Amino acid sequence: MATGSFSSQVKIELARKVPEKNCCCLAEFSALLRAGGTLGIGTGKQLSFYISTDNAAVARHVFRLGKQLYNWPIELRVRRQDRLKKQNRYRVRLIIPESKENELQQLGIIKSRRVVEGIRSALVKRQCCRRAYLRGVFLGCGSVSNPEAGYHLELVLSSEVYALGIVSLLNRMGLQARINQRKHMHVVYLKEAEQIASLLRLIGAHGALLRLEDVRAMKEVRNQVNRLVNCDTANLEKAVSTGLRQARSIQFILDKVGIDYLQDPLRQVAELRLEYPEASLKELGDLMEPKLGKSGVNHRLRRLEEIAEQLGKNNMYTKQGFADK
Ligand SMILES: [Zn+2]
Repeated sequence: MATGSFSSQVKIELARKVPEKNCCCLAEFSALLRAGGTLGIGTGKQLSFYISTDNAAVARHVFRLGKQLYNWPIELRVRRQDRLKKQNRYRVRLIIPESKENELQQLGIIKSRRVVEGIRSALVKRQCCRRAYLRGVFLGCGSVSNPEAGYHLELVLSSEVYALGIVSLLNRMGLQARINQRKHMHVVYLKEAEQIASLLRLIGAHGALLRLEDVRAMKEVRNQVNRLVNCDTANLEKAVSTGLRQARSIQFILDKVGIDYLQDPLRQVAELRLEYPEASLKELGDLMEPKLGKSGVNHRLRRLEEIAEQLGKNNMYTKQGFADK
């Protein structure tokens, strides 16, 4: 299953389950039709809904929910797409008998043969139904990018009022959904991995949630490793350039006034640094006799740099001149 797109993984997982409670079935079915379906008025003014999808599991799910809730005739058609894509397109059509049109009120989609704009509050009164409703919306019009590529989940809706209703439903569930217009469609979307994970948890896509969390953890480890490597490299470069600078200062002292100018504790460090400009403080300390700690080495090297700086300022000291004094 990991090979398919993340969107279809989520949908297949959601479509396998039919909610236990009737209230949730109704909420999910309503949302699926509203978000993913189209209302048709045929000859003889017969009402019908159809949902078109390339996901077989979603088509079966609509068929099953419809059969479970209503006694309406349902058609399921399969059409082979062009041969290159090798993907079928499924169309589920629910035909609503005229005598049953009043049952549509319950679904909150149509009232007096017109599409209702908002979400019927009775459908999302309970927590269980709110989850089912969002599940239906995702199955109907949702998609989510592969977590390896990035974090983006969106619901593409044709009505602005309905899209705003979905945003406020998501807000009620603690999610910060945003809305954007794309051509004539209204796109409700979530950006952060945390938010997408919360929604997957809410709608019960636990397998997909695991995959998302795995990818997130792997990315986090990779970032940490990169940070450490970069940090090590930076430290190393800094240490080497400091060592080279110290060696130059020591060479300067030697050129100006000679090694004898330095007292013994400084002289040993100076000679070692000249010989090993790239060695770390610890390595230098270990080479000394007796051994010296890092801070001791550091202190002496700093002292040497001070001397070099002073010698640089007071140009009157030359090797010769100093010897004369
Ligand atoms: Zn419920």
